[in-house]
Amino acid sequence: MTTEPVTAEAGRDFIRDIVQADLSSNKHSRIVTRFPPEPNGYLHIGHAKSIALNFGIAQEFAGKCHLRFDDTNPTKEEQEYIDSIQADVHWLGYDWGTDLYYASDYFDRLYDWAEGLIKTGDAYVDDQSQEEIRVNRGTLTEPGKNSPFRDRAVDENLDLFRRMKAGEFPNGTRVLRAKIDMGAGNINLRDPVLYRILHAEHPRTGTKWSIYPSYDYAHGQSDAIEGITHSICTLEFEDHRPLYEWLLDKLPVPSKPRQYEFARLNLTYTLLSKRVLTQLVRDGHVSGWDDPRMPTIAGLKRRGVPSAAVREFVKRIGVAKANSVVDVGMLEFCIRELLNKTAQRRMAVLRPLKIVIENYPEGQVEELEAVNHPDDPAAGTRKISFGRELYIERDDFMENPPKKFFRLSPGNEVRLRYAYFIKCTGVIKNDAGEVVELRCTYDPATKGGNAPDGRKVKATMHWLSAAQSMPAEIRVYNQLFANPSPSAANFAVDLNPESLEVLPDARIEPSVASDNSGEVMQFERQGYFVRDKDSTPGKPVFNRTIGLRDTFAKEVGGKG
Ligand code: ATP
Ligand code: MG
Repeated sequence: MTTEPVTAEAGRDFIRDIVQADLSSNKHSRIVTRFPPEPNGYLHIGHAKSIALNFGIAQEFAGKCHLRFDDTNPTKEEQEYIDSIQADVHWLGYDWGTDLYYASDYFDRLYDWAEGLIKTGDAYVDDQSQEEIRVNRGTLTEPGKNSPFRDRAVDENLDLFRRMKAGEFPNGTRVLRAKIDMGAGNINLRDPVLYRILHAEHPRTGTKWSIYPSYDYAHGQSDAIEGITHSICTLEFEDHRPLYEWLLDKLPVPSKPRQYEFARLNLTYTLLSKRVLTQLVRDGHVSGWDDPRMPTIAGLKRRGVPSAAVREFVKRIGVAKANSVVDVGMLEFCIRELLNKTAQRRMAVLRPLKIVIENYPEGQVEELEAVNHPDDPAAGTRKISFGRELYIERDDFMENPPKKFFRLSPGNEVRLRYAYFIKCTGVIKNDAGEVVELRCTYDPATKGGNAPDGRKVKATMHWLSAAQSMPAEIRVYNQLFANPSPSAANFAVDLNPESLEVLPDARIEPSVASDNSGEVMQFERQGYFVRDKDSTPGKPVFNRTIGLRDTFAKEVGGKG
């Protein structure tokens, strides 16, 4: 972590302004933030915004950021999620140092404080059913109704609460509620539930507890215990802030954090609800949490998205107080912009069509020089083999081309990148009438891709030697949802049936086949690709991270 104080150039927003003011006025001498995930799923790009904000502020203002698992609901939480969340925060480039906490570490203290609230007459045990509680809470326009158990004596409340803790009562039969105001305009203040009975084993506390605290009760008190100065959360918690503050006022907490809310990230073509993401995995719509079509950090990583591109994206979208939807194109822009600079160029043929250069000597192999990065001479060059039998991209040939098609067609001359000009002289078809092979000739005088007589061609195509290339499976991903604003309630209807295209017969350069660096490469004219963990020694598998922008223009222009 850097400990430089923030400078004017760093991205500023209303939260950073508050932090700066609190430091300048000596309200705080050191900033402490936290990222508080519930371990009930994998992190997604929305969480990346929250992570970058909380850890980013800690870095910029020489403070610290805690990672705290909000593990108060043992029926939904799993160790797998705890592990993945830690890995993903690290992958994003942030570190909590030794400040790793669990809300469950505070269960004893939270319980004692709850007894304290009972003793001061600020909490009571309610025997109403969940349904009765819901109905009697009222609505936005109607006040709630007091529970018939609201005026229970302190001793009876204490006795019942202790027996709830001891496991005497079945799930759902009683709750502990704060005694605030059933007529409050803010529904969160209508005697919110602080504890519920739940006979469930907890990954960390085992069977010790039969009651678990609610989010609202655990969260603010955990912040206070840890000395969080700025408790930053998303806007849907704005209406919870009065309760957050009510509890801090009533309880003997060691510090008084302040809660600030910012707009959560929403993205077009994307759903970021953990409920939906869990269901996508459970129902098999995707291969897992790390399916490259998922908006999870694990999915982005597997797709080949560099963490620096995610950080750049989060920086560009900024932090605002009003909700909005960000175009997923902005994320894609950040990915392309970075990869264009960093990715080495290679050739791959995704949908191969065999061509035979009839005037090229049988058995001859020529090593041609290819550049690894057009803007970075230091990236060097490599050799690629040319021969009589090659593969080109099936889409680069048309037997009866329309007017503006400049790539290969009978009689038309094109450039094979780094190699020669070729012309198509014959088309071989199968019984079904499909083109299966082309016959071509090459001009030996155009070696390197230029004609000495100065004649021009309109297209430059990628290619690979049939004998000196290797097979690969390539997976091309598109948006998981076909609808720019998919429905969270009924997401299945909005799924894109063409979100994954598997190309089982692709060809790649031999060096690509043996590459285990994990680096993203640009396959010329096709986009950016990264090796997938499903690769086997005989068959490497590559994921398309992202396509090149404006593919058609590039193809017509003939530039890689
Ligand atoms: P759910 O989808 O069930 O509401 P969640 O995504 O809020 O869950 P948490 O584990 O509670 O899951 O989130 C941890 C932190 O990440 C919270 O502080 C939350 O406000 C923040 N966060 C979650 N989603 C987004 C988002 N889309 N944009 C920004 N921050 C988010
Ligand atoms: Mg949440």
